[in-house]
Amino acid sequence: MRILIVEDDARIRHYLQAVLSSSGYDVLEAANGHNALSMAAQHDPDLILLDLGLPDRDGQELIRSLRGWTQRPIVVVSARGHEQDKVMALDGGADDYVTKPFGTEELLARVRAALRSGRYREGAPGAARRETFKAGGLEIDLARRVVKVDGQPVHLTQNEYKIVALLCRHAGSVLTYDFMIKSIWGPYATCDAQILRVNMGNIRRKIEREPSYPEYIVTEIGVGYRMVEGE
Ligand code: CA
Repeated sequence: MRILIVEDDARIRHYLQAVLSSSGYDVLEAANGHNALSMAAQHDPDLILLDLGLPDRDGQELIRSLRGWTQRPIVVVSARGHEQDKVMALDGGADDYVTKPFGTEELLARVRAALRSGRYREGAPGAARRETFKAGGLEIDLARRVVKVDGQPVHLTQNEYKIVALLCRHAGSVLTYDFMIKSIWGPYATCDAQILRVNMGNIRRKIEREPSYPEYIVTEIGVGYRMVEGE
């Protein structure tokens, strides 16, 4: 698997390079947006790790340019507190983000999840749609539409099930409120994030041991929700 790192800060770029290559990834580096685009076109990396604050080009604009011709996963590197930037990047076609400063484990988990969803999107061989999901006591059978917690079936309404199944198909990646609303209620949905929060409250009461400290579906404040990685 080949990863293109786009980061102008040499210190961070070297750190990312070291972490990713010691995990067995083949790493390419670009220090600005111009080189990023030409390297992406030339080498077609399996994933692009993109810093939003580049000297020569706006990161959001770079995502749009890349999405004009490639569906490869893009994971954005963003500063803490810049929630609006993350939402914009995700809705503009990025797959996920990591917030600076981030730990090695978190970075590798995001990269793995994004590579998985990239394979899922392409329908490549061996990327058969995952029909069952398991994380701790939570089990989801997507073919039979059955959700179990600690072996006990849980009754979810149709919308609650759609929300859980959507998060499950993107397990490990964050989904924005806007993306979820459009996926569940359609592209012309006029409902706001409140209806999603209400549904999520009900889902958590049904699947979480401690609904206020969720272990399966976590809230990414100001951005959206994330289902934990499956086993
Ligand atoms: Ca930067």
